[in-house]
Amino acid sequence: MPNPENTPAPNFIRSIVARDIEANKNDGQVVTRFPPEPNGFLHIGHAKSICLNFGIAEEFKGRCNLRFDDTNPEKESVEFMHAIERDVHWLGFQWHKICHASDYFDQLYDYAVQLIRDGKAYVDSLSAEQIREYRGTLTEPGKPSPDRNRPVAESLALFEAMRNGDFSDGAYVLRAKIDMASPNINMRDPTLYRIRRTHHHRTGGDWCLYPMYDYTHCISDAIEGITHSLCTLEFEDHRPLYDWVLEQLQTPSHPQQIEFARLSLEYTVMSKRKLHQLVSEGHVHDWDDPRMPTIAGLRRAGYTPAAIRDFCERIGVTKKDAWIQMAVLENCIREDLNDHAPRAMAVLRPLRVVLENYPEDQVEQLQAGNHPQRPEMGTRNIPFSRVLLIEQEDFSDNPPPKYKRLVEGGEVRLRNAYVIKCHAVIRDETGQVTELRCSYDPETLGKKPEGRKVKGVIHWLSEAHAKPAELRLYDRLFNIPNPESLPDFRDALNPHSLEILPDGKVEASLAEARPGSRYQFERTGYFCLDPDSSQDRLVFNRTVTLRDTWAKQS
Ligand code: ATP
Ligand code: MG
Repeated sequence: MPNPENTPAPNFIRSIVARDIEANKNDGQVVTRFPPEPNGFLHIGHAKSICLNFGIAEEFKGRCNLRFDDTNPEKESVEFMHAIERDVHWLGFQWHKICHASDYFDQLYDYAVQLIRDGKAYVDSLSAEQIREYRGTLTEPGKPSPDRNRPVAESLALFEAMRNGDFSDGAYVLRAKIDMASPNINMRDPTLYRIRRTHHHRTGGDWCLYPMYDYTHCISDAIEGITHSLCTLEFEDHRPLYDWVLEQLQTPSHPQQIEFARLSLEYTVMSKRKLHQLVSEGHVHDWDDPRMPTIAGLRRAGYTPAAIRDFCERIGVTKKDAWIQMAVLENCIREDLNDHAPRAMAVLRPLRVVLENYPEDQVEQLQAGNHPQRPEMGTRNIPFSRVLLIEQEDFSDNPPPKYKRLVEGGEVRLRNAYVIKCHAVIRDETGQVTELRCSYDPETLGKKPEGRKVKGVIHWLSEAHAKPAELRLYDRLFNIPNPESLPDFRDALNPHSLEILPDGKVEASLAEARPGSRYQFERTGYFCLDPDSSQDRLVFNRTVTLRDTWAKQS
């Protein structure tokens, strides 16, 4: 298989960049940026933008900045900034530098003064609601604010007073003076600055006046010498404003904004408002809950950076909105872990098996390969003894047709070990099976039994050697592909998205595993050791099942 990291799929943005370099536009340089707002954790949709921005810079030997778009102090924090840095890094990307829109507050202010001087902006006293009313609709032009022709000197004085904190929130805004009849509503005198008496996590109490996104973004891009400003399609209608601001100010550079379709993934939500709600209302444990579509959640679930990057390559970059099936993401991690994760045995719901013909105190160290296709990954010892644990599911009292696992009077092979036969079933007073009395066939280690076929193979552990483990079985957080289509997306929460098995057991070799280590538990799924683990209590998260169990249902 070609290594996806070395063979990026062609897409229209890469073509534009390649053409610009060839034409020596921007002196043949490529500079991109990934501009998150530090108001939440990054999610898989951001990964698409990260792979695109950093990927293009890497491919064309350019640079990519990590820029925090921090102009909404109420919702932003240093903690979110750090989480974002960690996640971008973990995905395997290195920024040229970290920037913040707030680094440019002085310059943005000076540019705004220049716009006022040039008659391109004015201080308006309409309330937010009035501004909305005056703005008009798609079919009707807006009408000018009574303040639209406020003399320049007056706007300058008011703007300075706004900055000095002379007014309360909402008393005034600064607006661009463009065209109240424009068919593009974004051009009907958009707001550039509003008053907010809020502490900013970087500039503290220096400002009580904050610039709006549309005004900030284009200037930040220009200051950083961004050549290609890549953003999602909803900003297409904002591009005329992006260009207008830069044209009025004659900034040293004028980046080209190019839009692409955002990632929409089935069975999850990605709006940060909704992700916040999932956390704050306790539907998940935190931003890094393995059910969250966040990078931190995917990491904790056991996803690898390579799988996420591979996913971003596979979905491609286009200008057309499309829904991506969750199975596409799950297949990326399944393939990666199938190739790379060592194998191990775990029993989720143990059932005791006593081998009556096996000596009481004997322990054999059997050998198991760590990966069936990769002998270089070595082997490990697995202890075999008289009392074993198997999966409750691997014994049936009432077997359906073609059942190949253990039944009373039947035989089954223990993986990497012997064939055993069940002679008797022990039950408690409620009829529940508590133990199986079996015998083992010493002639069957690594050999087929004489004169009979044993089809089923099951996994097992030696009871005395197994380590206790809590196994957290995660499933999709929502029951339907598009929860946001409901009036309340929470109505689609999957009540079975987490099943905790407190009494699991894993093989002793895992006692030394470090949080983040990933395994294929044979026949069971891919699992990753959770940071909640301790020396005497291992906790594993199920990353993904071995096969797509949702395929039949959807
Ligand atoms: P929200 O509106 O939910 O807060 P956002 O898109 O505004 O999310 P930002 O932090 O502003 O979040 O996004 C940073 C960058 O990531 C932007 O360039 C944005 O276009 C991009 N991005 C966000 N979501 C997606 C997505 N689902 N697919 C692709 N790119 C995305
Ligand atoms: Mg945003």
